[in-house]
Amino acid sequence: MGAGLAHERPERKCVKGGKVMASYEKFLQVGVALDPIHVGTGGARIGRVDLTIVRDPVTQVPKIPGSSLAGVYRTYVAMAEHEGNPNRQVNNQAWPYYPHCAGLGQVRDNYLGHCGRYDCPVCTVFGFARGKDQAGGFAGLAAFTDAHVLLFPVPTRRGPMWVTCPMALRVIGLEVQGVEETAVYLENHSANQLNLGWLLLPVQVCSDMGTIKKKLQNLSIPDYIQKRLALVPDRLFAHIVNSNLEVRTSVSINPETGAAEERALFSYEALPRGTVLVWEIIAKNPAHFNIGGQQITAVSDPAGVHKVVAKAHPYLGYLGIGGMGTRGMGRLEVLYSNQFPASQSAQCTLTASDQPSASTSQGGGQP
Ligand SMILES: [Zn+2]
Repeated sequence: MGAGLAHERPERKCVKGGKVMASYEKFLQVGVALDPIHVGTGGARIGRVDLTIVRDPVTQVPKIPGSSLAGVYRTYVAMAEHEGNPNRQVNNQAWPYYPHCAGLGQVRDNYLGHCGRYDCPVCTVFGFARGKDQAGGFAGLAAFTDAHVLLFPVPTRRGPMWVTCPMALRVIGLEVQGVEETAVYLENHSANQLNLGWLLLPVQVCSDMGTIKKKLQNLSIPDYIQKRLALVPDRLFAHIVNSNLEVRTSVSINPETGAAEERALFSYEALPRGTVLVWEIIAKNPAHFNIGGQQITAVSDPAGVHKVVAKAHPYLGYLGIGGMGTRGMGRLEVLYSNQFPASQSAQCTLTASDQPSASTSQGGGQP
């Protein structure tokens, strides 16, 4: 939610060369966890785990908040810009992009804060707290949605399977009908029952799995995942994900004695490696904004904004996101970063015995 667009011009559309330009464009991002990812609530113990991860308050499915993504992206884009121009100056003063245009921007000691300039790719794209030349704060041209679980790896007696549901697939523009029974929907009927973790479910066949696989293929999701798809109804998804999170136990070490601190055993949960996540980047049109009376020159259109943001992706693959980085957590490899694919639908047909099972409130409206 990009609130407080202080510098937005009154007109919503901008005409350049006789062509009306969109006020924003959305770009889809898909990534796979190379390590377990722990984006914590920073809260206290809930239930059996000390350090919990963030969950969607409605669906209870774990997610990575867009605010966490925005902070990590900003840091990595500043690093990338710094590598490209390590001797960067503002008005003959050294003002490197990293760390000064990264971070929260509050000036202290040797940290200069955000430069807040119309020609800074970091400050225009991610915003700044205060600006030069009487400019106030700026919300930034890029906005981030939360990252949602698209495909979740679960151990079964047939090896790992990647579980998804209609609600999760809707985010990538795929509307799947006919996944209503309390069952696991597979590509073929190779067994009567399958366990997802400790949950044993009857097997149904999704006759249109090919459409779903093709969609995932277009998003560069690896073959080994496409071959091991399992669909469940929305109402089972959160339960299956939450029952199969990685939970690790760790202990704090006293640096003086080198031994465990008393009462320092703690546990933390994480999305397991192999989890596939999706998020959106909304890129506003720079032509509709100015900073301190100056036209933004760092980027010229929404695609340019997205190109700056995507410079963070190699760093996400090396340095990762979230906590416990020192325990080998958090690396996220971005598989797809581009415009939204066209919307599609798939029908996992019900069997002949079309029993009036309690249909979910979603999926209504379609005959
Ligand atoms: Zn800057």
